Amino acid sequence: MRSQDYDRLYLSPPHLGRHELNYVHKAIEDNWVAPAGPNITGFEADICAATGVAQCVALTSGTAAIHLGLILLGVGPGDEVLCPSFTFVATANPIVYLGAQPVFIDSEADTWNLCPERLREAIVDRLAKGKKPKALILVHLYGMPAKLTEIMALAQEFDIPVLEDAAEALGSRYGGQPLGGFGRVGVFSFNGNKILTTSGGGALVTNDAVLAQKARFLATQAKDDAPYYQHSEVGYNYRLSNLLAGIGRGQMELLDERVKRRREIFAWYREHLADLPGLTVALAQEPAGSRSNRWLTTVLLAAPEPEAPAAAVLTPEALRLHLETHNIESRPLWKPLHLQPLFATAPMYGGAVCADLFARGLCLPSGTAMGDAELRRVADALHEAWR
Ligand SMILES: *Cc1c(COP(=O)(O)O)cnc(C)c1O
Repeated sequence: MRSQDYDRLYLSPPHLGRHELNYVHKAIEDNWVAPAGPNITGFEADICAATGVAQCVALTSGTAAIHLGLILLGVGPGDEVLCPSFTFVATANPIVYLGAQPVFIDSEADTWNLCPERLREAIVDRLAKGKKPKALILVHLYGMPAKLTEIMALAQEFDIPVLEDAAEALGSRYGGQPLGGFGRVGVFSFNGNKILTTSGGGALVTNDAVLAQKARFLATQAKDDAPYYQHSEVGYNYRLSNLLAGIGRGQMELLDERVKRRREIFAWYREHLADLPGLTVALAQEPAGSRSNRWLTTVLLAAPEPEAPAAAVLTPEALRLHLETHNIESRPLWKPLHLQPLFATAPMYGGAVCADLFARGLCLPSGTAMGDAELRRVADALHEAWR
């Protein structure tokens, strides 16, 4: 990878292949540099083919896709939306854009995603309070599929539509089926740090052609079918540029390769960090039928002994600072949203599981451009921290 700092190992930098420039070049040659054009159509077709979802709408970001997705599910002012606490803030921000209220739910230990028991508790309690949740957002964190069988059964039992935030999980599978098509609406991100990137971009997928048509309409300023500019609804400017979609087409050719390499990186860390006492490469067990794209490899430190002197306790933050001295970037796990000042007053069901993961976890460099020599650098730096 080229960057300002050739020596630095980043967490998950963009990794371009050989064909992106061909698509971008063709777009410029043909003067297709608008938020319409053949690269957009091609990129959408590539996403449909890779995910098995019938309809795709390429957008400016994953956040925009979540925003439109919630609108398609009818979320509006005063509504409640169920959402995992353990996720990136972009999962929940669009709930707030719409004047709705997030209701947060804890993780379970196997996948770190929505806990089906806490979810049932939350739904039953919200119903008892006289408020039926308008929608449910589920997330596949770090590429690990959530417990879809249990979660989708609950959504069906209580008749709550699902938005599947698969921003981190392009190329992951559940029961042999690619993620993204389990809910009424699915979302992918092509931000610079994701497994594939358009520098910035996103996509909304759905098997419902009417919803897809509505998403396209809302993403292009909600212009009515008239020869002049007539508008009956609020619209947005969320369509992806044909130039960036060209990058996306080149990237989509690489999906299988990139998933394979992320999984190799995960396996490499597992093997070469196995001797570090008190450290485990996390999420090692993929639940039966699940296949993670291993977007980021994460580690967990053992909880400190109750009487251990503070100086003897190795924290994720101490480890992060140690890796920095070797010019290696690492990151804490997502800080749970119920612990964010922004969401201090939002309802929360459970919370101990994701708070504990946040206190003990760290994400390691997982970019697919890394070779074994770079991985060795990370492992050596970690071993040094234990000496
Ligand atoms: C990256 C991400 C998003 C947002 O995608 P953008 O393209 O950055 O807007 C949403 N949810 C999760 C879980 C993400 O990791």
